[in-house]
Amino acid sequence: MKIPMSSPDLTDAERQAVNDVINTPILSMGTHTPAFEQTFCRLTGAKHALAVNSGTAGLHLCVRAAGIGPGDLVITTPFSFVASTNALLFENAVPIFVDVDPQTGNIDPQQVADAATKIQKYLPRRAPFDLSASTVKALLPVDVFGQPAEMDTLNAVARQHGLTVIEDSCEALGATYKGRQAGTLGDYGVFAFYPNKQITTGEGGMIITSADKAADFMRALRNQGRAPGDTWLSHTYLGYNYRLDEMSAALGAVQMTRLDELLSKREQVAGWYAERLAEVPGIELPYVAPATSRMSWFVYVIRLAAKIDRAAFAKRLEARGVPVRPYFVPIHTQPYMMERFDWREGDFPVTEDLGRRGLAVPFSGVMSEEQVEYVCQAIRAELF
Ligand SMILES: *Cc1c(COP(=O)(O)O)cnc(C)c1O
Repeated sequence: MKIPMSSPDLTDAERQAVNDVINTPILSMGTHTPAFEQTFCRLTGAKHALAVNSGTAGLHLCVRAAGIGPGDLVITTPFSFVASTNALLFENAVPIFVDVDPQTGNIDPQQVADAATKIQKYLPRRAPFDLSASTVKALLPVDVFGQPAEMDTLNAVARQHGLTVIEDSCEALGATYKGRQAGTLGDYGVFAFYPNKQITTGEGGMIITSADKAADFMRALRNQGRAPGDTWLSHTYLGYNYRLDEMSAALGAVQMTRLDELLSKREQVAGWYAERLAEVPGIELPYVAPATSRMSWFVYVIRLAAKIDRAAFAKRLEARGVPVRPYFVPIHTQPYMMERFDWREGDFPVTEDLGRRGLAVPFSGVMSEEQVEYVCQAIRAELF
């Protein structure tokens, strides 16, 4: 048997929606994009939703809208997909990493509070600019693996220090924190729709915010810097082409009508894993915090006991047709990050420990119980 690492969950309704669009001449900037955006306003209660062509693009627009520029400091997490930090580097801002909670893998609010008051202690060894006049501008928490960060505490720190909060919810569409939707918990929230995410548009992303001026500005930047009233060839700002096309928007709108079903199926698959792996020695299961009123399962990441050779174990699983991935390789240990800021192994021990022991197993809402059973049998057989 060969198990896929992940698979999108698509039906004839999605296929029909894309087909309908390509039977019209309007493949971009039509009515499907605003309709897709509206589904996010309805889900989250946000005043504005802006569709973009990737989660990374969405994060970048939020960074611009927050006025984050060269040398500005932004507190964020090294235990994430690189895009959350890259969006800062695009504007030559400096990510200030703090370590994470060992259970959830989300940014540790106590360390965020400490960094906001004693920033000197948290600066990188090296930076492309002189940071002596730099101040902390923003906080960029990530809802890791579909679990919201500890946002009440983080927002309290942000308020105290006047920081803008950009919530990277690219892994957490539909998750709730104390009953509130992920993505609505800061000043800006961003979702992503790559095929392994909870909903997909192929490539795509969405920003939500309740800030009117910022929303107008980001709409302009998404569309080559055209402000309201600008003609096709007049550009008020330095902008980008971050627009989502109509096929993707139509696909996404259908996926959103199925969101609850998609999340429930993923939850069921996570439950099948938990039942089968709970008693396996050497394996730790994902932890769901009490504040997480709904987990939006993005990936299923188990943690191996330190004595298990993860690379060798992964190889044996692959040989049985079970693909697995280390999750995450910490951002501060990526080659370009070490070169730019001189981060070193050992700087963020909890992140590094989770990064060394984490293993994502095949996961999607279309997995059958038989497939989960097969994966778990392989895990039990090959563990030691
Ligand atoms: C998926 C993801 C993104 C955005 O990814 P894109 O591929 O650009 O859509 C950003 N941050 C995190 C944490 C993600 O998992």
